[in-house]
Amino acid sequence: MKIDTLFIDKDLPLTFEIDYLISKLKTVPQWIDDPSSVYNFITAADDPISKAKKTLYITRNKGAVIRECPGTSYYTCCDYTILHAGTFCTMDCSYCILQAYFHPPVLQYFAGLETLGHTLEKMFSKNKIFRIGTGEYTDSLIWEKVSLLPEFLVNTFARQNNCLLELKTKTVNIESLLSLDHNGKTVIAWSLNTPDVIRSEEKGTASLTARLEAARIAESNGYRLAFHFDPLVIYPDCARHYKTVIQQIFEYVRPESIVWISIGTFRFMPKLKQIIEKRFNRSTICYGEFILGLDNKMRYFKPLRIALYKEIISCIKEYAPDLMVYFCMEDQEVWEKCMGFFPKKEGELGRLLDKSAVTHCHLNSRLL
Ligand code: SF4
Repeated sequence: MKIDTLFIDKDLPLTFEIDYLISKLKTVPQWIDDPSSVYNFITAADDPISKAKKTLYITRNKGAVIRECPGTSYYTCCDYTILHAGTFCTMDCSYCILQAYFHPPVLQYFAGLETLGHTLEKMFSKNKIFRIGTGEYTDSLIWEKVSLLPEFLVNTFARQNNCLLELKTKTVNIESLLSLDHNGKTVIAWSLNTPDVIRSEEKGTASLTARLEAARIAESNGYRLAFHFDPLVIYPDCARHYKTVIQQIFEYVRPESIVWISIGTFRFMPKLKQIIEKRFNRSTICYGEFILGLDNKMRYFKPLRIALYKEIISCIKEYAPDLMVYFCMEDQEVWEKCMGFFPKKEGELGRLLDKSAVTHCHLNSRLL
């Protein structure tokens, strides 16, 4: 993580966690008592989003640490739980929704591992399976090189039997996790794309082969794995390229190590288009056959989505017939035409994923 400017909340006690961050970041911290200093610093830049990627604000999480994934009522949702450990990202994908989500975007690390531990203990005492991830408002493993957070989470989740931890990333930052006694409760998940899309749209991320090699190493250290093809981007010959990526996955890792694969085509809030046009003037990602979806996001025309999904799903099933493959935010018609079924009842997709979590991560099966 390369940070030019480091702000730290003056109220934070100088714990080992903070000391560790400062020593790794190698940037002289500015202790501040008002977050508006950070917001003003970022918004004064010509490109506040780029500035925010090099400016870290270490603070306390003043909101909810545990959140239900927002989802929408129009598309089938997977009932995921978000652990809100930080915001924004140092990498720079053209399609990243976080660019349009925060006003202004701020790269924040929420300090307080002890409080986080207490919150998690409450989750661990519930009679329910939870799939919990930190990769919704940030990349889970950009923090691995500078903070104790990923290591703390893996160790904490290792001691319980009803929660799966998913660390979702486009980095290869797994070194500090390899020697941990994770007890099979952590899934390391890579977002994947074709080399063309990685090259043109995912600035600062690891290459496809580097991600797959990291997955292989994680697997050899006993970690369960997941992969997310989201966003799938439609461009000439893309189906063939995505099928090559799938073939590569199974050259690197065994199907039994994979807890699930999710797929979802590119979709965007209309206001993201202006940001992409301004910040990534060579990107063509927003120009395609899009229509406005029920959730007010632009999506590829449905027959195009269905055609690509069918090819991808049948390719995955060739290598791993029993693997759990699911859509992130798709409707009944797409499910039925591509998967042959639709998880209609409320919570049904969540239960299917819980089942896969229980099987792969040895969670308490009586809670299903
Ligand atoms: S890696 Fe994820 S969080 Fe980071 S810029 Fe890309 S899409 Fe956004």
